[in-house]
Amino acid sequence: MLASLLRGNQESRTCEVCGNRYDKAFEVRMGGKTHIFDSFECAIQALAPTCAHCGCRIIGHGVEAGGVFYCCAHCATEHGVQGVEDRGVPERVQSRS
Ligand SMILES: [Zn+2]
Ligand SMILES: [Zn+2]
Repeated sequence: MLASLLRGNQESRTCEVCGNRYDKAFEVRMGGKTHIFDSFECAIQALAPTCAHCGCRIIGHGVEAGGVFYCCAHCATEHGVQGVEDRGVPERVQSRS
């Protein structure tokens, strides 16, 4: 009953990945284009870059080397990229070894 009351007032929009219509769909602006998703899972599916080494979706900071994205410094190194370190790791953690 509450749902049917709300249905008239709230704009439901269609996720561009799975086609689900959802009143809490959200927009993501990327590279000047606006995308609409019903979930972060769909947003990741559509927008997150893929690791050039292991193929997983990069949802953290990732590593970029020569225009190619990797999910982590390990993958970049395995792929032959040299001198990369994970970004965003505090120095006090890095120096602990
Ligand atoms: Zn979706
Ligand atoms: Zn990877």
